[in-house]
Amino acid sequence: MAENLPSILVIEDELPIRRFLRTALVNHGYQFLEAGTAKEGLALASTRQLDLIILDLGLPDLDGLEVIHQLREWTLLPIIILSARGQESDKVTALDAGADDYLTKPFSVSELLARIRVILRHAARVPEKEEPLFVVGNLQVDLSKRQVSIGGNEIHLTPIEYKLLTTLVRYAGKVVTHRQLLKVVWGPAYADESQYLRVYMTQLRHKLEIDPARPRYLTTELGVGYRLKTD
Ligand code: CA
Repeated sequence: MAENLPSILVIEDELPIRRFLRTALVNHGYQFLEAGTAKEGLALASTRQLDLIILDLGLPDLDGLEVIHQLREWTLLPIIILSARGQESDKVTALDAGADDYLTKPFSVSELLARIRVILRHAARVPEKEEPLFVVGNLQVDLSKRQVSIGGNEIHLTPIEYKLLTTLVRYAGKVVTHRQLLKVVWGPAYADESQYLRVYMTQLRHKLEIDPARPRYLTTELGVGYRLKTD
């Protein structure tokens, strides 16, 4: 049985955080592996069967960012980064380098488990068999019919608004950085045109949110990007 439990490698030099993670993960049915340095972590990642890596950005022997680069040379294994508060630019760099999501210290067990569930669900999904229907609350996005509705009422979106929304649907529950959204929706040449994104996100919220100033679905990750809620 134990072999079928999702296995998670934690690369983190702070012992109390490793202990916290070990308790939380083992109690919730995950296999737990740990490394206190980047070197150990990379060695474990290349020799063990893993489902997810939780990576601290501030490691003693190697920058966490460098660990992401090295991992991404040979694996698409999901990576959740741990960062300290106020390191927004580090988070963004790590996400743009290929990390899947992040947690800011200190974080709760429920936040941790929610992130892991979303990531493992995404990893398990076969791209060609993507769900044509995305539903959260009263928002419904039918990708096969290209229809968006709120409480059963169809909402008209412009092509850019639709592309922005469906990009967030594809990564539902995960953070998507400003650059990632700009590249997908407008193209690589627009990766730094964050004002485009702000304008269209405001429009989209006015069409989809009851209170656009306090969005229920299209949430802001301050200084990082946006996340489409899945619950
Ligand atoms: Ca650290």
